[in-house]
Amino acid sequence: MVKNYKAELVGVLGQPVSENPTGAMQEAAFAAAGLNWRYLTMEVRPADLAEAMKGIRALGFAGLNLTIPHKVSVILYLDRLSHEAELIGAVNTVRREGDLLIGENTDGKGFLRALREDAKVDPQGKTAVLLGAGGAARAMATELILAGLKRLVLVNRSESRGRELAEDLRRKLSANVEFLVWPERAIEFASDTDVLINATSVGLYPNAEAMPAVDFRTAPKGMVVCDAVFNPRETMLLAHAKAFGLQTLDGLSMLVYQGVIGFEMWTGLRAPEAEMKQALIREMAG
Ligand code: NDP
Repeated sequence: MVKNYKAELVGVLGQPVSENPTGAMQEAAFAAAGLNWRYLTMEVRPADLAEAMKGIRALGFAGLNLTIPHKVSVILYLDRLSHEAELIGAVNTVRREGDLLIGENTDGKGFLRALREDAKVDPQGKTAVLLGAGGAARAMATELILAGLKRLVLVNRSESRGRELAEDLRRKLSANVEFLVWPERAIEFASDTDVLINATSVGLYPNAEAMPAVDFRTAPKGMVVCDAVFNPRETMLLAHAKAFGLQTLDGLSMLVYQGVIGFEMWTGLRAPEAEMKQALIREMAG
């Protein structure tokens, strides 16, 4: 029997990238699935992205992740974008179709899958308050609206960035979006709020004692509180929400499902979700 020693390559390009835990999660998935695949974590300067993408093609990479600062600039070097990546205007995952490199965005898809599968919430017909207007917020808002969200209340510190995102969502998706500038006092919730999502970096390590100022006394009983921040896993926001008896969804779930979706896009196989989650939890603990 002739052995096949050829490994399939995937990986992530970013700068800085050394603390990105995705590789550990994907390598655990490849091992669990018995695949001879490798995930490489690669530091690439913005000025070198064009050459790096030529290398990705020449080496026949089966897929790729992009992180800061390459999520928008990589679009120049791709052959096509998915409808969602086009709407979001950024790419965090690349998959191959023959020789073509296709840009996808799984930031919002990972969140949506976590919301549906872990929090058991279907966004169809729901109202959400979304804090933030950066890359993660843009992807999450787009996917929530595509999934049938009824109304989105967008809250952001910088008015221009928040207004621009709200305008984009109304224009591209005919969405029902209200924009509020981050208030001086704690954010209060209307009685029809189903979901609160923190898509800002408030609460992210090393500023883990920080939390967005929200008044959970005004939260309706069934409101689900979600945080995109995954380090720490239990943010101050989530701890406070739990103290008020509210259901929570952490950023780790979103990160795991992004990895799950990437694995499935690249390999065409069902991802070993439990092994991927365990690998990520181990990495975070380490
Ligand atoms: P960006 O830098 O694109 O956006 C950051 C957002 O946070 C902006 O809306 C910014 O507001 C807001 N912000 C930052 N500091 C403050 C503050 N002190 N008070 C109020 N608002 C603030 O980052 P991303 O969108 O890429 O990431 C946002 C968060 O989501 C990060 O914590 C990141 O780790 C997390 N994330 C998690 C993922 C997951 O899979 N779990 C995936 C991707 C991201 P302004 O516009 O005013 O600057």
